[in-house]
Amino acid sequence: MRGPFVPQLVYFEPKALDYPLGQQLLEKFTHMGLEIRYTTSHNQIRNLPGDSDAQRYRIAKATLVVGVRKTLKFDTSKPSAEYAIPFATGCMGHCHYCYLQTTMGSKPYIRTYVNVDEILAAADEYMLERAPDITRFEASCTSDIVGIDHLTHTLKRAIEHFGQTEHGKLRFVTKFHHVDHLLDAAHHGKTRFRFSINADYVIKYFEPGTSSLEQRIQAAGKVARAGYPLGFIVAPIYLHEGWQAGYEAMFARLDAELDKEVRSDITFEFIQHRFTKPAKRVIEQNYPMTKLELDEAKRRYKWGKYGIGKYIYQKDEEEQIKQVLHSAMQKYFPQAKLEYFT
Ligand code: SF4
Repeated sequence: MRGPFVPQLVYFEPKALDYPLGQQLLEKFTHMGLEIRYTTSHNQIRNLPGDSDAQRYRIAKATLVVGVRKTLKFDTSKPSAEYAIPFATGCMGHCHYCYLQTTMGSKPYIRTYVNVDEILAAADEYMLERAPDITRFEASCTSDIVGIDHLTHTLKRAIEHFGQTEHGKLRFVTKFHHVDHLLDAAHHGKTRFRFSINADYVIKYFEPGTSSLEQRIQAAGKVARAGYPLGFIVAPIYLHEGWQAGYEAMFARLDAELDKEVRSDITFEFIQHRFTKPAKRVIEQNYPMTKLELDEAKRRYKWGKYGIGKYIYQKDEEEQIKQVLHSAMQKYFPQAKLEYFT
């Protein structure tokens, strides 16, 4: 990708201007010459430009809404964290398989919330309830928070806030490499900074609008050298021609980037490609030219919650994937912790 995300269109909720961050963003976007509109609620952006659904979808993904988060009750985010912390919703990336397409439905625009102090105060309450147990907060359940943070610096504030807590931890994952402003944050080891990585082929064909593998790995190197606990999610693990070599190359490149000392505290999460029928419908609508293989007949059906089953790889394919990834981990990162492999 080229530079960091710049919205094509910005909406403000008038109430957002009661907060210093709302004012700062208005000033910044005015100075940048962006088109600015107002909306009564960040949940109701009805007049997006565009002649077709496809065009409106694209414009929505380039639209930033600056609003106030009213619900300060956090969703749970088991098993990797106790709570999802809501700093933003939506993403400018165009990953064909992204689950936000189904969960956000008709509202694919990006929302950022300016009442950051209130959100962090709510997090403090949750920590207090569970103390002395640690409470973990996941900041990327509904967005790629790093992708917009160069504009808001909300994540940086959150990292420094959690850095000062006794019982709180923060985690998030990103496909973007714009991390420089986060390197000097006083994290005190309380934030696990994760990168979503994949074989070059998967990034090239299915993750338009995000950073390249090389950019993500270089960013991971910087983050590790800044002393953050580091993690990687490899998802979706996708079978394609030459996939073994693709994943091997990914590990080898990581190996070359990361110093030996940081490796005992690296986590890996592996998730194989799967899809549901509703997800397939929305992917085909949003990305009609996708090469993503979504043929139910080639997959194994796994019953799921609420009657929505998943189409997963065949048993022998799963075994092959596990073998290839486990042996790469053995070869390159024997000390790292494998958090899960599904
Ligand atoms: S970067 Fe993450 S959140 Fe954004 S479109 Fe891709 S998968 Fe979805």
